[in-house]
Amino acid sequence: MGPYQKPYFLPAPKKLVFKREEQIDISDFSIKADKKCEKILDIYKTKLGLSQSSKKKTFLLSINNKLHNERYVFHSSPKEIVCEAGSVRGLFYCLQTLLQMKDGSKISFVDIEDMPSLNIRGIHLNFDNFRQMGYREASIMIQTLAKFKINTILIEYGDRFPYKRHPLIVSSNTLTISEIKNLYKLAKENFIEVIPLLQSFGHLDYLLDVKKYSYLNEGDNKGGRQICPSHPDSLKIFIEMAEEIISLSKGIRYFHIGGDETRYLGVCPKCRKRAEVIGKGGLYIEHINKVCGWIKKKGLRPIIWDDMICTFPETIDKLDKDAIIMYWDYWATAQKTTFLLAREYETNRGVVYHKKWQNEWNKELSEIERENIMRFGRFLDLEKEWEPEYREKFLPYLGNEFPKYIKSFPYLKFYRDKGFEVLGAPLIEHLFACMPDYHNWILHLERPTRNIFEFTRRCIEEGALGIIGTSWMNYPPEVLYPGILATAKFSWEGIKDEK
Ligand SMILES: [Zn+2]
Repeated sequence: MGPYQKPYFLPAPKKLVFKREEQIDISDFSIKADKKCEKILDIYKTKLGLSQSSKKKTFLLSINNKLHNERYVFHSSPKEIVCEAGSVRGLFYCLQTLLQMKDGSKISFVDIEDMPSLNIRGIHLNFDNFRQMGYREASIMIQTLAKFKINTILIEYGDRFPYKRHPLIVSSNTLTISEIKNLYKLAKENFIEVIPLLQSFGHLDYLLDVKKYSYLNEGDNKGGRQICPSHPDSLKIFIEMAEEIISLSKGIRYFHIGGDETRYLGVCPKCRKRAEVIGKGGLYIEHINKVCGWIKKKGLRPIIWDDMICTFPETIDKLDKDAIIMYWDYWATAQKTTFLLAREYETNRGVVYHKKWQNEWNKELSEIERENIMRFGRFLDLEKEWEPEYREKFLPYLGNEFPKYIKSFPYLKFYRDKGFEVLGAPLIEHLFACMPDYHNWILHLERPTRNIFEFTRRCIEEGALGIIGTSWMNYPPEVLYPGILATAKFSWEGIKDEK
């Protein structure tokens, strides 16, 4: 046996004191627990090797409702170990920490005080694009997430949900009802909250490609699939699908209604006429608010992607105040960026940058940042060519080095200033992260890690609810794990100032 080695934790506890360079044998302690802790104790006493038979030393587990619900305090002395938590969930996290330092029947001699930096720490479980993600992969993932104190999954089914009323859209690769029920059960056992996602506007290819529903398509035939917000069947079919999802989703509090990249607003004659009166943004927000209203009637809180609100910033004043805005940006990796995510509707510019500092940037930027603008950026003279109404609206959020440098995730504060709760959505995968250099993708961990790091820092700064790391491409689900670990680490530990 080698000398004692201190364990490392992921995520690291907020406050951790190693009291002695030796270990405690927990098999010498008899466990005593509050009634509320009994169920979890039953599951974990075997994993931890804890005994309930009477011994001189005691290991006490208790709940103190006065503490933050995910907080736990762990104290060890030669005769007594005490673990107190704000809720059973907090206790569950304490036990996960113990499992990380367990060495046979021994643990380190430590005192810990711990709680997360963000309340929602989540991962996007995307069955839609991620077709290699089956029930088995998802089950393993849920259990792994819990080990690292992730507490939320955003489940997107696409056509892999067994809709009874709309069987024509169901993929042959669908999850079954019992598989979905089991995933919910497993999530609950692992203290993970599920948020279902069903697109209510764009990205509905799997529905609109089916002949029976093609009459609802507002998009073109080249790949744009978006429902017509003026047709009454659009909302009706969304509701029928959402009802089936909700009926299988026990204990949910939120429902994500998508709503991103609706690039075909005001195309059909009816919509065109409406758009002449209320604008394309008006068409968007009218439909979204109807969907939000229905979700709220079900006792749930709606979540929407942020990009169309950003595209039509005037709509934010009309958006249902209970909606949570989920802000996605997969490119920012530093406190100040060289680019702006410009989301104007007609021009749809995306990642744009002002090239005039190219030579200076070359000396100042990290390799990742230089690659970022090279691979994804488009040149735009932000002083002369960026539409004045956007410039005026967003200028106060871009930082004082604009346009050479822009404060990362600038729209966060805009959404917060308008009174909305916000979630950050970084990217947890690595293939998309390094396009088009596919050959090196598995080694390309830095960009998403930096993106998650910086997004977390800004979310904490702006008082966001949390972050949910997203995944979009179909390749083996195991490649999500580095991004999952980064999300778990930063969202729990918080970000220490690097300077
Ligand atoms: Zn229409």
